Amino acid sequence: MAKAKSQQTEVHEYQAEMQRLLDILVHSLYTDRDIFLRELVSNASDALSKVQLMTLTEEVLDQDAPLEINLSINDKENSIILEDSGCGMTHEELKVNLGTIAKSGTLQFLQDMQKENKSAENLIGQFGVGFYSVFMVARRVELETRSWHPEGEAWTWSSEGGGNYEIQPSKKKERGTKIKIFLKEDAKEFCGEFRLENIIKRYSNYLPFEVKIKDKVLNQVKALWTQSKNDLSDDDYKSFYKQFCHDHEDPQHHLHFSIDAPIQYHALIYFPKTINNEVLYARESHGVALYAQKVLIQQDNENLLPPYLRFVKGLIDSEDLPLNVSRENVQKNVLIERIKKSLTSRILKELETLGESQTELYNTLWGTMGVLLKEGVSSDFSNREKLLKLLRFNSSLSEDEKGLTSLPEYVGRMREEQKEIYYVTGGSRQAVMLHPNLEYFRGQGLEVLFLFDQIDDYMMAEVREFDGKSLKNISDSEIEGMADQSSESKLSEEEKSDLLTFFKTQLGERVEDVRESKRLVDSPCSLTNPKDGMSVQMEKMMKMMNQDFPISKRQLEINLSHPINRNLSELLQKNKSNPFLKDAVEQLFKNALLIEGLLENPVEILPQINQFMEDAAAFQIQKLEG
Ligand code: ADP
Ligand code: MG
Repeated sequence: MAKAKSQQTEVHEYQAEMQRLLDILVHSLYTDRDIFLRELVSNASDALSKVQLMTLTEEVLDQDAPLEINLSINDKENSIILEDSGCGMTHEELKVNLGTIAKSGTLQFLQDMQKENKSAENLIGQFGVGFYSVFMVARRVELETRSWHPEGEAWTWSSEGGGNYEIQPSKKKERGTKIKIFLKEDAKEFCGEFRLENIIKRYSNYLPFEVKIKDKVLNQVKALWTQSKNDLSDDDYKSFYKQFCHDHEDPQHHLHFSIDAPIQYHALIYFPKTINNEVLYARESHGVALYAQKVLIQQDNENLLPPYLRFVKGLIDSEDLPLNVSRENVQKNVLIERIKKSLTSRILKELETLGESQTELYNTLWGTMGVLLKEGVSSDFSNREKLLKLLRFNSSLSEDEKGLTSLPEYVGRMREEQKEIYYVTGGSRQAVMLHPNLEYFRGQGLEVLFLFDQIDDYMMAEVREFDGKSLKNISDSEIEGMADQSSESKLSEEEKSDLLTFFKTQLGERVEDVRESKRLVDSPCSLTNPKDGMSVQMEKMMKMMNQDFPISKRQLEINLSHPINRNLSELLQKNKSNPFLKDAVEQLFKNALLIEGLLENPVEILPQINQFMEDAAAFQIQKLEG
């Protein structure tokens, strides 16, 4: 790729993707040009953090250089210079860091944004477009850098943003990176101190290192989290969040506290408004930033919280942690383990308090992170009781699909004679409300919790009980204390037995059993879970994970008071071999499967329905004529 231009200059071509990225940046995101400075300053700050940490354990060049970022302006040349004393880059690092797109998905993201014409200002912030955004304002960039390695060389990297960049040796003596930006004709506005100061205040106010113009410090620097809550406004927290966590939205809630025992630490924890799918389902974690004595050790440490709390963002700063904890030994550090325990219980406590005193806020939070707390119920045994109280459910007593209740509230409403907590799982409120197995409970005015998440069946089966009361799926075949719902059936014992036997013979191996139902009111029949077996939802989930997972046979309950079944019985008594009997049993069974979502090809029921309709129409005509 590299070809020699003059003796010492190497010309490199950008990766093809890079060129596309540059093109979009320069031509489409035009209105957000301010952010180029945010990106460069944040890179400088990262580089300073790295070298700060390195200094603790290794020999670095310019050991005592102040850790800061300096901005200056050259009016005549129309250029801006940004200089840091950070870790710098080697020749190899220059090629990798500034010649390729490191983050997969970056290009895709920008292309989508361009296509949908979304407001770039918001989105770009959360993604971070990085170094190349400089070409929105620069016609040429010259970057000189010397790595922290004591005997490393210095290099100049330069580019005009087109198809290639050049690298050549530099005479730079000091550690760090100096970027000179030659502004485009239409970007001269950036060549003003006041303008730059404004941008820094807006986007980079909370960087941990000083950003200066002519020795004037532009940003706040003092660590927000070590300050007293009383000295900080809601806006302080919000704007810190946006800068620190790279989110364009305000957080939903924050938690700021310091404790001294069993270990000293400050925590500033945020609950974001939205959680992306990678975090929710792919188990990707934001991680929490870890500081030791105000030095950033790791931007996204995943050992500070259990996996199910992976949606919170923020940081921990401990005075008790030794500065030389490295990323590798953080994992095994007992102090980290202690922080994790304390932080987890503090966060759960906060959620509990919100649930009690700020219901609306809590319910909103629940909407975004509920699934993850459910994951916690199944995985964090030591906090299970606390987590169970944090759960929220829609229920048969809710007015609509938005209503939420908790297990303690449910228990508070239980009838004296009610022994179990009833629940049903399904795709939506609409779907479960129509489920035949709910008829009994609605009729009796017994509250049933509605669960719609995939994880629910698994969780409920795992938990088994709350407050000494067992959790009962209403589709289970045995429900304790169930009062018989069937209105006085006029079938004799013999007729009953004949009809059930007919069903059994016809359905054969396809059902576990056929029984008389006590729970059905309006529906002719329904399926219930096999004895000691799993619910339909649970089996479907297992099947999703493993195609070969067998769906169990279920029990078919027959409502013997239902007109369909009574007529079938009469017909059966009169003529065992009437073909309608078999067709009707098949249809009823398929209907029951359909309700459970167990009919692989729902369309298959149509020919039979059409046949029934044809017969019914003929019957109507007969009635008219007869
Ligand atoms: P990101 O910061 O998200 O990694 P960037 O495009 O902003 O992406 O930067 C790419 C990489 O270039 C950085 O990860 C870093 O390794 C390197 N880099 C950029 N600016 C500097 C700098 N001032 N000092 C040292 N390294 C830098
Ligand atoms: Mg960056």
